[in-house]
Amino acid sequence: LPLFVAARSHAKNDDAKVAVIDRTKGQSFTYRQLLSDVSAKKKWLLEHLSLTDLDQRRIAFLVPNGYDYVVMQWAVWAAGGICVPLCTTHPVKELLYTIGDSQPSLVVIHPAFAKVEPALREKVVDVPFVDFIPILRSGSASSISLPPFHDSLPLDRRALMIYTSGTTSNPKGCVTTHKNITFQADCLVNAWKYTSSDHLIHVLPLHHVHGIINGLTASFLSGATVEMYPKFDPKTIWERWQDKGSSTMFMAVPTIYSRLVDYFDAHIRSTEAEVPSKEGAKALRLVVSGSAALPTPIKAKFAEITGQVLLERYGMTEIGMGISCGLDISQRLDGSVGWPLPGVQVRLTDKGTGKIIEEDSEEDGMVEIKGDNVFLEYWNKPEATTKEFTSDGWFKTGDVAKRSKDDGAYYIQGRASVDLIKTGGYKVSALEVERRILGLEIIQEVAVVGIADEEWGQRVAAVVKLRDCTATLELGALRTKLKEEMAPYKIPTILKIVDGIERNAMGKVNKKDLLKKYWPDA
Ligand code: ATP
Ligand code: MG
Repeated sequence: LPLFVAARSHAKNDDAKVAVIDRTKGQSFTYRQLLSDVSAKKKWLLEHLSLTDLDQRRIAFLVPNGYDYVVMQWAVWAAGGICVPLCTTHPVKELLYTIGDSQPSLVVIHPAFAKVEPALREKVVDVPFVDFIPILRSGSASSISLPPFHDSLPLDRRALMIYTSGTTSNPKGCVTTHKNITFQADCLVNAWKYTSSDHLIHVLPLHHVHGIINGLTASFLSGATVEMYPKFDPKTIWERWQDKGSSTMFMAVPTIYSRLVDYFDAHIRSTEAEVPSKEGAKALRLVVSGSAALPTPIKAKFAEITGQVLLERYGMTEIGMGISCGLDISQRLDGSVGWPLPGVQVRLTDKGTGKIIEEDSEEDGMVEIKGDNVFLEYWNKPEATTKEFTSDGWFKTGDVAKRSKDDGAYYIQGRASVDLIKTGGYKVSALEVERRILGLEIIQEVAVVGIADEEWGQRVAAVVKLRDCTATLELGALRTKLKEEMAPYKIPTILKIVDGIERNAMGKVNKKDLLKKYWPDA
């Protein structure tokens, strides 16, 4: 596998090159140690199942973010199996859904999750469970010999099964091959220029492409060092950035940037005369946002505090990354996700007729993707797989975008199913309205939805959480504030103030659930 070939070469070039800094263990692990531990874990896995090759076997594992996770994932790959990483923050019910749906040959549970194990074992009777033995070895390891791996493993073998975030319906297991994931990671290495001098601060969940491909795989292909945190905490990250120079990359979802900005305003801005965080964060060479639309005000505030202009990109579980802004600051346009990544084909098609939208048109259209990055199949759902591809082999993302006819940059308008609101003959992008509303200082969180209406078709409704929970906001006042910002038909005519907006593990709002909760009769 290209990943193992790369890791061996990093280890050969530099015995002491660190692959992972595990913040929970407080230890560093070199590429050499990683390969050696992977080899041992691979043997353990195969022995456990009395097999010589895990061909097509799915191994589900619940392992915290850190070195043990990387060893577990690579061991499954080395043994020829398919990784099904379980979400560490999922309640038992959702873990049971993933285990039940993926039908693994083995469920591996790390001692960090010993508490949930009995509840899982009780319900999953037909699959063996095994405890992961944590890896503690660290320190100098230049004497460790590099184990051989069968580098001849076919690249079209299935490698990974990741579940979609479940924003629109039950999560679907997306199966990708080694060829897919290698392409997905390579593509980013080329576009974002990862090198062995890079040092990534990793805080993302590891049951999702963002954390697995963009975070881990692309970094390890490049020989970079990944510093892994068990979870995101704004205080820890601001403190970490004070330590100038030793980290170069950070990747996160918009809610994380929003929490970083809020934490800074609440605890750092007022206490420091000279904002040291800005100095610390300056050493970063790349700070990326994705998985959901980045609100422009958050991008602006983050830049004001740190001097870093966030690079936004668009991706999905099914495709890895597809469209990305450029490394050059001039290619990080507000509200845009940039241009197709090299090797990824992107087209827009008319929602009604399916006709391709020409490059000189600024009509919005359905985003369709083709390339080696695109997944193989939805697990156990052949009909869903067939339905989501066109007859000429393009994957239908279900998202709507516009493309600028001047520079070809893409602007995501949202999901066709919930984010495109039709009101009085106009089309309104919920994401655009959300972006504007978040620009208002008093607003902490917002979700915009369309409510069915006899007269208008749909009406634009905003569900809002105020920054100050003792404050109030009238619809009239909100409309007045937005009048200068946007066309009248886009301004919400319904307002609901709430204490909080429920989000899934990737920080996304299930708008169908939101509608059911607040407008059960609509
Ligand atoms: P499910 O498919 O189960 O409903 P999901 O689509 O949220 O869940 P993911 O694959 O994690 O699962 O998310 C991909 C979706 O996230 C994209 O289809 C798109 O709607 C959204 N997305 C990702 N990046 C961006 C971005 N930069 N701007 C706007 N939307 C984005
Ligand atoms: Mg989806």
